[in-house]
Amino acid sequence: MTDGLSANLQHLETSATIAISAEARRRKAAGEDVIDLGAGEPDFPTPQVPAEAGIRAIKDGKTHYSANEGILELRAAAATHLSLLSGGRPVNADHIVVSNGSKQSLFNACFTLFGPGDVVAIPAPAWVSYPQIVHLARARPVMIAGDPEWSLKASVKDLARMLPGATGLILCSPCNPTGAVYTHAEIRAIAQWATERKVWVIADEIYRRIHYGTGPAPSFLDLPEDLLERVVLITGVSKTYAMTGWRVGFALAPAKIAKAMAALQSHTTTGANHPAQFAAAAALGDERVEQDVQRMVGEFRKRRDIVVSRFRQDLPGVEFVDPLGAFYFFFRVDSFGKITGTDFCTRLITQSGVALVPGAAFGDDRWVRLSYAAATDSIKQALDRIVSFARKLGD
Ligand code: PMP
Ligand code: GLU
Repeated sequence: MTDGLSANLQHLETSATIAISAEARRRKAAGEDVIDLGAGEPDFPTPQVPAEAGIRAIKDGKTHYSANEGILELRAAAATHLSLLSGGRPVNADHIVVSNGSKQSLFNACFTLFGPGDVVAIPAPAWVSYPQIVHLARARPVMIAGDPEWSLKASVKDLARMLPGATGLILCSPCNPTGAVYTHAEIRAIAQWATERKVWVIADEIYRRIHYGTGPAPSFLDLPEDLLERVVLITGVSKTYAMTGWRVGFALAPAKIAKAMAALQSHTTTGANHPAQFAAAAALGDERVEQDVQRMVGEFRKRRDIVVSRFRQDLPGVEFVDPLGAFYFFFRVDSFGKITGTDFCTRLITQSGVALVPGAAFGDDRWVRLSYAAATDSIKQALDRIVSFARKLGD
């Protein structure tokens, strides 16, 4: 699509996840009966405490530029929050940079750390925006196929097979699109491997709190300091607090990198939305909001169980990744015959009115992603439609 456009955009494609939600909205507006299980965003309203803090911030005139790196209230709240999630370890608020959503934090990190000639490893299937963001930094993404026997996760052995001289690795756990979660031992092994080879790790932990095991999912922050010298941790409020539209995310990075990322965004966005930062600060660490989070995660868990048991019961033999975190269910469609994920999703939305995301968006079109961040009744109705559609394919 680069005719007449800068080489900066030579690999650019519109985000497939965003495009599918837009397509579902368009069909609904045109009067079609479409259930959208494509979008990866919580369907719950933003909890009252942050919502009111945002309104108060606007009324109090917090409506001008904020510091590039974000307001101190939010950086301090984020540091305390991250510290508490990882057993009270020290987290320095000065190493946190707040951005307009963690998508911008990821962009800042990649643009700061990588450039022409750099190779960045991305365990695949992977969230659609990682390779795109690496390309925008003019570096080269290399997709490392995850092990199908191991929830499509990449091991140190898989990483060792990657091109020598790689500069970076982007790791997402809990994983979008698979729902897989890396264990503490796996994270430690990857961090050790990266430290030895001087590879920068961008650890996307945006789904850390949406975990169906005990407590938050294992994190790079659970590791000792000497394994974190080349780690940039990405998180934000979008998923945990149902705050996707507020656009607040943040990165925790070594001092020099944090400073560079703040300087970078001083020329792009001048920092994050100012009142939204107060809303995010109010969300972190408030007891009432904690209860909202527990309730939302509990709901996600119930919906996950509904999806898993329905697939087990009505589509036995269909392979899927055991979903341990996030709100995605990733299943394989090639057992239905000669059909790609893209064909499956195109036919499903046209014939049965359910929007899902083809695996092609994540690097493997034998699979399809279903997001269960939707009302339970819609999920049940969508499952009825998926089951009867899939059974017909098998006939
Ligand atoms: N990382 C992952 C893995 C995601 O799924 C998303 C979804 N939007 C993001 C980052 C970006 O989230 P946001 O910009 O809303 O913080
Ligand atoms: N991350 C979500 C998804 O994968 C939201 C859309 C996006 O930002 O890609 O569906």
